Amino acid sequence: MDDIYLDNNATTMVDPEVVEAMLPYFTEQFGNPSSIHSFGSQVGHALKKARRQVQQLLGAEHDSEIIFTSCGTESDSTAILSALKALPDRREIVTSVVEHPAVLSLCEHLEKTEGIKVHTLKVDAKGRIDMAAYEKLLHERADKIAIVSVMWANNETGTIFPIEQMAEMAYVAGVMFHTDAVQAVGKIPMDLKSLKIDMLSVSGHKLHAPKGIGVLYLKRGTRFRPLLRGGHQERGRRAGTENAASIVALGKACEMAQANLEHENTVVKAMRDRLQEGILSQVSHAFVTGDPEHRLPNTLNIAFEYIEGEAILLLLNKAGIAASSGSACTSGSLEPSHVMRAMGIPYTAAHGSIRFSLSRYNTMDEVDRVIAAVPPIMAQLRKMSPYWGEKGPVENPEQAFAPTYA
Ligand code: PLP
Repeated sequence: MDDIYLDNNATTMVDPEVVEAMLPYFTEQFGNPSSIHSFGSQVGHALKKARRQVQQLLGAEHDSEIIFTSCGTESDSTAILSALKALPDRREIVTSVVEHPAVLSLCEHLEKTEGIKVHTLKVDAKGRIDMAAYEKLLHERADKIAIVSVMWANNETGTIFPIEQMAEMAYVAGVMFHTDAVQAVGKIPMDLKSLKIDMLSVSGHKLHAPKGIGVLYLKRGTRFRPLLRGGHQERGRRAGTENAASIVALGKACEMAQANLEHENTVVKAMRDRLQEGILSQVSHAFVTGDPEHRLPNTLNIAFEYIEGEAILLLLNKAGIAASSGSACTSGSLEPSHVMRAMGIPYTAAHGSIRFSLSRYNTMDEVDRVIAAVPPIMAQLRKMSPYWGEKGPVENPEQAFAPTYA
């Protein structure tokens, strides 16, 4: 039986049609799009088409708002660094505690090396952002804030932030707004022309395009300073000869994502919901993390109490199921992820948090196989758990065994 891939928030399979679309750009269509001759101009036309395909998926007003980059991380960095350079008198950033390291590490670095003040918005137990604190910050410090950078949807829990509203609030306060939409693009509908988002990051490999291609959406009229200077590619906003094959691939992937948006929000969502129900109805002491009401249709994060996430992953892998864990092995100690910690998930549950992220390539049959495989794995691991006794969890497991958060 084939293995089951439920780790699509980590990366996705490149769609065979996407591969087919990009292949000619490695062989006969090898020209440099900046060249005048027909070798070049043919590739130039292909890039223009791809730009339009991305524009349409994002609902952007114009294709010139699409800047191709090398990845989501580059798009995030470009957005934040551009704002700081364009507005040198503003030395503060607003972000959230659950951002991807692409944003959080950069902010920490800027804080340490440049003295930039970073305001990190907290989330509640369901991963919902503290809107009152956000409003207060905008009210009190608007003229000091260079940029707000908050993710559209969280990669671990799928929780969707009220980005439309947050962008509007920033606009009213006169503050630039960026969103890391790496996990949201292609999963939920977007219409950027009607929103006050100035910049937005996309990553190709999360939507069935290859790794190493991304987009920075830059709303017309937004002040901008390039990260890479050199040639005049991307209208001088991102120098470097274009990664033509991957750009064509991303265009095709966006076209396909748009065609599949409804499928994602009906069929994929139904598979996710069945998986959730199937697991929770059979495994005790397990709960969904994040905001079940406002959540990406493909994402399910379950905290299995009193079990170790890495052990779950290993046994799932042995059963031919690929998922991922909220804990990461850092310097020999297993720490729950910053997202689980930010929501205040108890240590004994955060450790056993598992993310199942689906795609349109999964089937109900696969979901049923996972539903059948998970309960015996949890029972086996709980038997070995120091937190689990004959009749269930031991008393006060937190105090008995778990270290407190640093
Ligand atoms: N932002 C989020 C929310 C992500 O999930 C990821 C990738 O996991 C990134 C940014 C980084 O994207 P890339 O791998 O294209 O640099």
